[in-house]
Amino acid sequence: MEKRILTGDRPTGRLHLGHYVGSLQNRVRLQHEYDTYVLIADVQALTDNFEHPQMLRQNVFEVTLDYLAVGLDPERVKIVVQSMVPELAELTIYFMNLVTVATLERNPTVKEEIKQRNFKRGVPVGFWSYPISQAADITIFKAHLVPVGEDQLPMIEQAREIVRRFNTLYGKVLIEPKAMLGEVARLPGTDGNAKMSKSLGNCIYLSDPPEVLRKRVMSMFTDPTRIHPTDPGHVEGNPVFTYHDTFNPNKNEVEELKDRYRKGAVGDVEVKEKLFAALDNFLAPIRARRAEYEAKPDRVKEIILEGTKKARATAQQTMEEVRAAMKLTYFA
Ligand code: ATP
Ligand code: MG
Repeated sequence: MEKRILTGDRPTGRLHLGHYVGSLQNRVRLQHEYDTYVLIADVQALTDNFEHPQMLRQNVFEVTLDYLAVGLDPERVKIVVQSMVPELAELTIYFMNLVTVATLERNPTVKEEIKQRNFKRGVPVGFWSYPISQAADITIFKAHLVPVGEDQLPMIEQAREIVRRFNTLYGKVLIEPKAMLGEVARLPGTDGNAKMSKSLGNCIYLSDPPEVLRKRVMSMFTDPTRIHPTDPGHVEGNPVFTYHDTFNPNKNEVEELKDRYRKGAVGDVEVKEKLFAALDNFLAPIRARRAEYEAKPDRVKEIILEGTKKARATAQQTMEEVRAAMKLTYFA
């Protein structure tokens, strides 16, 4: 059997540079080696956006455009809408018996996200238990590999635990998945926050036009201890240089800028101008491919429906095996 990849994104907004280096880049690189499923996790997005489900509708389309824009090949990769594979809900329910409340309470990513979201009426059970449904997402497609950013490692660990428990109890049906981190496991935000994230409003989007990109770069957080261009500056932990390291292919230019920055011999404006140029180069072909697909909405819709249909067939196959292993086939 060809090895599989499953990964995905919540349709809570367009995709950004963090998604690219954390996960998209690996998906594009590995799409011809692995049978690849990419899940648009709308059900998971509902766990903290249930009061405004209409927000997800347009974003399902936007996220798909971003996938196609970075070079995911629709002839090869299955783009899947989570809510259109109801078998995922069924597997989630079975998995709920295999995880303790205490384990969920300890999940560091969930803890961190709960703090960030500041739920007014307490934490919805759906949000709190999303690591379980994410385990169902991965395992229903029998994925071997899950390309993700660092924040997702506890989720993959949880999925591995569930698989071990399931296979020990019921027989070896499921595959224990492995996480694969991207070139940058956690890209910081433009505001200096440790993570660029849709929910934090500190993003550079893959679809940002040049004038928006320029504004975002020019207003980036740099070294707060540096007041004048002649003050020696810090390169480490400075997101402007993290982005240079990641997206500027001209390594000599980057080293030379760092050197002058440390000595207090270059202004922020020049460093940012050069970053803008590098990012603009990086984004130009992505924007162009996005525009091609934006002009063909019927084709995009077809890609989503086709991918979802194929993925659902895979999910149904796994569920037959799951039910049989769990002895739930009373009348077969
Ligand atoms: P939200 O704020 O709605 O949770 P998000 O920006 O965190 O959005 P997700 O859809 O939750 O994006 O994450 C999709 C994938 O992208 C995950 O694998 C995640 O680890 C990865 N990812 C997201 N942000 C970053 C980042 N800043 N650096 C590296 N990887 C990232
Ligand atoms: Mg997230």
